[in-house]
Amino acid sequence: MQTWAATRDAVAPLLVKYGQVEDGMDGARYPFWALVRDELWTIEQVQDLTLTSRGRRPTLESLNEVNPLGGLREDDYNLLRSHPDAAASAAAGLILRYFHPLLAGLLEDFGLHELLAGRWPDALRPVLGETFKDRDAIWRVYGGQKMAGIGCLADGILSVFSDDKGPYADGRIPDTSWIAYVGDGLSGDQKLTDGNELMAEHQTAGSPLRYWHKPYQGQFSFETWAVIVQRRLRWGVGEDKLPRREFLWVLAPVPSPERETWPAEVLEALDADTGELHDDTGDYRPSDLALGAPSVEESDQDAYRRLAQKAEANAERRRGMKKPTLADKYIRDPSARAAVIKRCRGRCESPQCAGHPTELTTAGLPILQVDHVKDLAKEGHDVPWNMIALCPNCHALKTYGENKEKLRRLLTVTARRLHEAMLD
Ligand SMILES: [Zn+2]
Repeated sequence: MQTWAATRDAVAPLLVKYGQVEDGMDGARYPFWALVRDELWTIEQVQDLTLTSRGRRPTLESLNEVNPLGGLREDDYNLLRSHPDAAASAAAGLILRYFHPLLAGLLEDFGLHELLAGRWPDALRPVLGETFKDRDAIWRVYGGQKMAGIGCLADGILSVFSDDKGPYADGRIPDTSWIAYVGDGLSGDQKLTDGNELMAEHQTAGSPLRYWHKPYQGQFSFETWAVIVQRRLRWGVGEDKLPRREFLWVLAPVPSPERETWPAEVLEALDADTGELHDDTGDYRPSDLALGAPSVEESDQDAYRRLAQKAEANAERRRGMKKPTLADKYIRDPSARAAVIKRCRGRCESPQCAGHPTELTTAGLPILQVDHVKDLAKEGHDVPWNMIALCPNCHALKTYGENKEKLRRLLTVTARRLHEAMLD
């Protein structure tokens, strides 16, 4: 237990230096009393203190006069004393939430230097790679919210959970390690509330979050730290099977929450991001993806022409960008994809296809994969004449098959031919 005067004199300069507080002596009352009210601290002689007119906290005069003893509850104090790991983890979590990016000198000023000695992110729990059977198991160890896809563990640090419902549901953006993460909300247009609101706050602040991933039939693991570098709006299908607008949060993995460790391409993308919403839903219609009822007003050829034009215009705009980020280069244009889905009419477009399953994925989408004949990573264009719809088998042949080069040449010609035929 420490006297109020000792607490005040230690905290006041920190409030001035790190809390933008002008009068540190007076300001020290606020955290002091908040700790008492939250029952993290106990104090003696509460009954002798005079409260402010609204009764929210003691007056400075009465605190100075009574000078009560205050401190952590005894069991908490003993825990932190005897378990430096627990103390380090708690301190690191608070740093990440409230003092990120970490200011030089702060650990020394707070007397945490020895405890965290230049490696505060290592003290954070859970650590990278921790794996759990399911969400319930995570919740039993780390608390916090239990079910939503976006939420905080008990330490107040944001986590997003990605659960692959099928073998192809992984949100990785091809050719990158970046992740396209669908926002919170099961049915109806997604709104900037709840988890999505937390994501927007993290996007604005450039704050890191934890990305948890559960592969198909696998377990949930804390796969990577990540930052949000872009927010898009796309068409998707809600749990009610109806088309709806979905947020697509573009997450860039980072090695640790410490900004100094973030790759240059991530920092560039953070700099380039103004926080604006990139709304793609005007470029195509839900009916273009066969989400819901097919369109009756428009022929497939007309729809194809409309979508292909939009894709060409978008590709042109991206080529004109002075400093395109990885997101600009590798995020697929949904209108280009929709055009190919129209063109293929639910069939694999490889002339050598030996037949494919007509089933849909669990998400209600065709099992066909729309692939770039020449990869975007090799300067291929994100437009329908460079794209082809393949069944999983043909896709595997194109990706891993011993004759993949020969097949790729055939598909190059095929995609152009099918494209021309639609425009003809
Ligand atoms: Zn096929």
